[in-house]
Amino acid sequence: MTDMTNRRLLNSRDVRRFLAAKGARGQCSACANHDFDILDEELIGGRVGYPVLQRNGNEAVSAGLFEVVVLACTNCGNLCTYERKIVADWVASNPAKKISVGAGAS
Ligand SMILES: [Zn+2]
Repeated sequence: MTDMTNRRLLNSRDVRRFLAAKGARGQCSACANHDFDILDEELIGGRVGYPVLQRNGNEAVSAGLFEVVVLACTNCGNLCTYERKIVADWVASNPAKKISVGAGAS
């Protein structure tokens, strides 16, 4: 559940690259807006996760976190979540290219 092996924080640019590579349409399911804020882990210095609760008799006890990447519609605030491990694994396999100053446009 909690991804302890990949400690790198994701920035919004990484998430945007992931979404573009996966062909995500980027449309709010509630209002059809196309603009989202992406929670930038590097900016806030943290990550987001849903608590996972396990049944223990008649009680629910904490069993860690299910980590997610969160996008918020800038129009209505609807939240959209992606499984963080899938995003982080893709980013690790597809590192951002360095932008070199003075390189010609192609
Ligand atoms: Zn919306």
